[in-house]
Amino acid sequence: MKKKDTNVAAMCGPQIGEGGKTGDWRSLRPVISHERCIPFQKKKSACFLCWLYCPEGVVKAGLPIEINLEYCKGCGICAEECPPKAILMVREDKS
Ligand code: SF4
Ligand code: SF4
Repeated sequence: MKKKDTNVAAMCGPQIGEGGKTGDWRSLRPVISHERCIPFQKKKSACFLCWLYCPEGVVKAGLPIEINLEYCKGCGICAEECPPKAILMVREDKS
């Protein structure tokens, strides 16, 4: 019997649309505290709710996770959904 494929993947990747790159819309930028991030702490694939909920598909679920800021629109959903609050939204003009 064929093994059932349980992998979940994004339906499509980010790309330039009529409004340009979605990263150009951003006024807030997500900053990850890897020390608080569950997969980084546990050194294994876990959580990845930021990847699951990101509407732009710009979170790369790896160790550590990465966000493609060229296309991140700064909506803050990832920060809202992150259980340990490892993502902080900061103003673009601050570092
Ligand atoms: S702020 Fe977070 S959820 Fe929103 S587009 Fe950027 S990475 Fe995705
Ligand atoms: S939701 Fe938070 S804890 Fe979970 S992988 Fe993303 S940044 Fe890490």
